[in-house]
Amino acid sequence: MLQMNNRNRDGKNNNHFAQAAAPVEQLHPEIWFMHEDINDADRPYMMPLLQDSFEQWFREASEETEAMQGGSFLFDWELRLIDSAGAIKGQEELWHDELQLLAAQVAESGSAASVSFGEPLMHAAAVPVRKRSDGEPFSIFIHIAPSSAAKAEQQAKLSALHFRSCFYRAFEYIYVRDLLLQQKRTEKDANRRDALFLAAKRLYDQFDVTSVLSEMLSSLGQLYPSSEVNLYLSQDHLNGDARVKPLIFKNTAHDIVAKAFMEGKPMTQKERDGTIRLAVPMNGKQAAYGVLCISIDAERWDIANMPAFVLLADTAGSAFENAKLYEQSNLLINELRVINELAKRLNQSLQLKDIFKFATNELLNIFEADYCSILQLDKDRNQFNVMSSNIPTLAREQFVPDYGFSGIINRTKEPLILSDYWQTRVVTSKMMDHTGSRSLIAAPIMVEDEVVGVIMVTHKNPHYFSYDNYKLLQIMSTHVALAITNASLHAEVRRMVITDNLTGLHARHYLNEQIQSRQRKDPLGSLVLVDVDHFKRINDTFGHQVGDRILIQVSEIIRTTIRQGDIAARWGGEELAVYLPGIRSEQAFRIAERIRLLVEAETDPKVTVSCGVSEWTFENDKISVESLFYRADMALYDAKNNGRNCIRLGVG
Ligand code: GH3
Ligand code: MG
Ligand code: MG
Repeated sequence: MLQMNNRNRDGKNNNHFAQAAAPVEQLHPEIWFMHEDINDADRPYMMPLLQDSFEQWFREASEETEAMQGGSFLFDWELRLIDSAGAIKGQEELWHDELQLLAAQVAESGSAASVSFGEPLMHAAAVPVRKRSDGEPFSIFIHIAPSSAAKAEQQAKLSALHFRSCFYRAFEYIYVRDLLLQQKRTEKDANRRDALFLAAKRLYDQFDVTSVLSEMLSSLGQLYPSSEVNLYLSQDHLNGDARVKPLIFKNTAHDIVAKAFMEGKPMTQKERDGTIRLAVPMNGKQAAYGVLCISIDAERWDIANMPAFVLLADTAGSAFENAKLYEQSNLLINELRVINELAKRLNQSLQLKDIFKFATNELLNIFEADYCSILQLDKDRNQFNVMSSNIPTLAREQFVPDYGFSGIINRTKEPLILSDYWQTRVVTSKMMDHTGSRSLIAAPIMVEDEVVGVIMVTHKNPHYFSYDNYKLLQIMSTHVALAITNASLHAEVRRMVITDNLTGLHARHYLNEQIQSRQRKDPLGSLVLVDVDHFKRINDTFGHQVGDRILIQVSEIIRTTIRQGDIAARWGGEELAVYLPGIRSEQAFRIAERIRLLVEAETDPKVTVSCGVSEWTFENDKISVESLFYRADMALYDAKNNGRNCIRLGVG
């Protein structure tokens, strides 16, 4: 009551009550509710209210000797005896019929009545107790006095009035208590709505999925303290938070989490330990993303909370969706940046070895993976060669084309993702076994619809790679394939540029480049110039085609005579040249001699060659390609002048 009055003075009361009670309120601002009265809605608690009021009346009236001298009885308007009190309490059984009759008389007439009966004579007076608002009677108060009928009537009237005031006090008390309860509930709802609103606002403030999830979980923790909150999500969104669990569809009939997700509506279930388990799908606009699950003590659970819970789950679903889209677009931008960077860098290097090494490092970085290997398929040897790997034991390893995961990819031409090698060991994999890896993403490197290689990226943790990772690797592998194609094309063009068409020996400019570069690194080297004797005659005699064949034969003899690292080239026309790095002229002479003898012995039609040999050493201050050639040419000129089919050493 006190609280109510205070609130009233603050002017914070419910407006509709204030309006209804306006006239009374103007008179008695602090007791505006006096205008309120009982009505049909109060029926359910009318009897206890009457009884409580009667008891209260009795406590207050017990000091009035007059009132206590007889007996008092209370009937409700349906003529049920509610209670009795006074000196003759307990005799109502005796006077049951008389009292009932008297009450019926009052109920029928709507006004007071009295009767005298028994031996000794008793006087009973009954008065209707009327409502304060419209004067309608709602109960019957009877007083029995042994002394006189007039006393009984007077006492009945007085006591009835007293009783009525007790009744209205009790009624007001209940009324106000209900109001307060109602207000408390409204306040609680408002608080909850505020909390929800704040939670929703905070949810929308989050731009990344992880924050949305933890925000939602902590909001729920605040809204429903001492309850257990979990979130079930598909594997892609697991974030390491212990409250976030994987959504598993094993036992859909009994698992309300899976059921809520599939049917898209909230589910409740009473657990054996007395808690209520609630599963609410987290719906976004495009899809359901997971299930929010909360276990609440059954006593604390109120089904009225359900809409708030659903609202929060849906808000979270939308926020989650937004964050996901935001993340996805960020990821996409990031992916494009990474792809762009990789493509650019890959295209910069035209050496296959560099490409593989660079791609390996980049992939390890991008996926924050533990291991990466790139294998290339060698068609001639029919095997996969490990071209690049951060696993030392695998570097330069070879595998048969159908071995392990590279074997599967070679066969299917499809990329693959493996969540846990320990669980699903489809094939044995040296890479996985050697490193203790459990997660794998792998993609083929395809060139013109053929598998030319395989990229494998692994991690020691199971379920490490996401579907997005898998797709990204697929895109990256196409760029690696492009880079390989580019590098191969480049190598081919380069080979063509530095090779002489007819003889297959190197071109003259390549020989020049190589001698120049060797002169910067080596201490010495020799050059042999080989010129076919009387070649003009061969051409004239057998024709140019035969001449060409002779040139090819001589070139082949040179090629098989020299070692790897020596460089044979067509210097021009029918003049060929061999550069021998780190070889002195004496030894070069012997090599030239071997060539001369073989040409004489093996060519058909038979030809001979003359050779000029020159040498350079780092002590010589006139080191240059021109000087080396000049001296060899001079020596060759000597050889020609000396009857041909011989070798001369250049001097100086
Ligand atoms: P020698 O070197 O012994 O002094 O006489 P030679 O006849 O070989 O010398 P010369 O330099 O006068 O002639 C070279 C000839 O080689 C001229 C040209 O017809 C021929 N020749 C140059 N290049 C080719 C070629 O690619 N194919 C053919 N069939 N002949 C070539
Ligand atoms: Mg010549
Ligand atoms: Mg010649």
